[in-house]
Amino acid sequence: MGELLADHTTLRLGGAADQWLTHTSPDAWHEVVRAVEGPRPFILGGGSNTLAPDDGHPGPVVRMATRGITARAVGDGRVEVTVQAGEPLADLVAWAVAEGLSGVEYLGGIPGTTGAAPVQNAGAYGQQIADRLTAVTAWDWQHGRTVRLDAAACRFRYRSSVFKVQPGRWTILSVTLRLVRSGRAAPVGYGHLAQALNVPLGARPLLTEAAAGVVADRRARGLTLPVQGPDVRQAGSAFLNPPVTEQKAETVRATGGPIYRDADGVLRASAGWLLEHCGYGPGWRVAPGVYCSTRRTLTVTARDGATAAGFAAALRTMATQVAESTGIELRPEPVQPARA
Ligand SMILES: Cc1cc2nc3c(=O)[nH]c(=O)nc-3n(C[C@H](O)[C@H](O)[C@H](O)COP(=O)(O)OP(=O)(O)OC[C@H]3O[C@@H](n4cnc5c(N)ncnc54)[C@H](O)[C@@H]3O)c2cc1C
Repeated sequence: MGELLADHTTLRLGGAADQWLTHTSPDAWHEVVRAVEGPRPFILGGGSNTLAPDDGHPGPVVRMATRGITARAVGDGRVEVTVQAGEPLADLVAWAVAEGLSGVEYLGGIPGTTGAAPVQNAGAYGQQIADRLTAVTAWDWQHGRTVRLDAAACRFRYRSSVFKVQPGRWTILSVTLRLVRSGRAAPVGYGHLAQALNVPLGARPLLTEAAAGVVADRRARGLTLPVQGPDVRQAGSAFLNPPVTEQKAETVRATGGPIYRDADGVLRASAGWLLEHCGYGPGWRVAPGVYCSTRRTLTVTARDGATAAGFAAALRTMATQVAESTGIELRPEPVQPARA
């Protein structure tokens, strides 16, 4: 039997890949391309946002395991940092903070690789990878060549990018960010963060204190791996915060729900609040082996007896309930590999 996807995903679900390749050396990418048999491969980073099917993947899977960070001063205290795709995002954040470079300090504690971060424009506490990303180097499977995509070409949106919209077309090989030499973190623009760090909104706390505060807050809320206890098998938020019309926003506000504008000015409701409004809660059993996290309704966890099919069906049940009760459509956040 081939490599089990369950062994490489944080939900610990998924059958075998037909072919399994690991990309470990930045110079050896062309060898990986030559070794791929059949259709475009499914690319796996840390597997922390992937719901892999029970019958595995009928084609090649490439796990990105390249490591390395290089830095180049570009003037005015700005530093261009290039990160290999397999470098854990948490390690990039720790490195940047240790180097006195500001720009990614609020992304600490997000599991997974730096190469995957642009895919859903990973973000937290009011910061997203798109804020500092200048370009990615990627392999274009359509044209069989290495390309450089600048930030505009990545078409970043709230938890989305061109890589999410056209899955499988590009494999991100490295990510280039522009960070700023500063002992101070980016301004706090998120209420919960201000509370957690005990500073007013707009303050610029010390870089080291901001980064440590974020990781401590995530740990306390079960938002970083490893999570102890029954919530260990999870992929973070199960749903994206849905866009809503002005009219729907009013209805949500009238029932006490939060509404906010994302970085593109789109009105969004809180998926967690909508689920709780519809009766779900921490620790709730949604289906056999599928439970809301004991700490956070929006995180859906797998326990003994869970299957990927059952997990996906449970997410559909939850979304249907929210749609029937509020008219708002929830979309799952974890990626389900497309069939070849
Ligand atoms: C406890 C927990 C907390 C989380 N908190 C957050 C959070 O605060 N904010 C947030 O945004 N996310 C969060 N997530 C989700 C997840 O960690 C992020 O989306 C992360 O960026 C996924 O990285 P990964 O390497 O694990 O991706 P994977 O699950 O391996 O892959 C995810 C997708 O990206 C594609 N992909 C991976 N690598 C590449 C590459 N090099 N090139 C092209 N495509 C690629 C895959 O094909 C797949 O479509 C959380 C998850 C967990 C388990």
